[in-house]
Amino acid sequence: MNSDTIFGKIIRKEIPAQIVFEDDLCLAFRDIIPQAPVHILIIPKKAIAQIELMTPEDEVLIGHLFWVGTQVARKEGLTDGYRLVINNGKQGGQTVYHLHIHLLGGRSLGWPPG
Ligand code: AMP
Repeated sequence: MNSDTIFGKIIRKEIPAQIVFEDDLCLAFRDIIPQAPVHILIIPKKAIAQIELMTPEDEVLIGHLFWVGTQVARKEGLTDGYRLVINNGKQGGQTVYHLHIHLLGGRSLGWPPG
């Protein structure tokens, strides 16, 4: 369950975060530099560095993260839509190497992303 990233510290409650949901498998907390009125990160407690390193045994866990994303979005009142997105690797814009799903909502989001 341990991880060396800043998100590992958040999981272990070594640094604070605005946690909006937690269960045995995952944690959801507000992004510290929000890119939209609602910007929440959903992370597994298992230390998977990035989505490309998921294994078949992670399939149910990753599905659970998306399920939690939809439930948090509902709780946040995002009835007009939102985005659940994973950045993978350098060109994907990933900066923290602990797998996370971004939940972005509360404004119209452009496409394609920059
Ligand atoms: P990514 O660029 O996809 O790896 O996303 C990493 C995200 O983590 C960025 O949106 C950061 O703003 C966010 N972030 C970094 N440190 C923290 C922190 N201590 N608490 C909450 N969000 C953070």
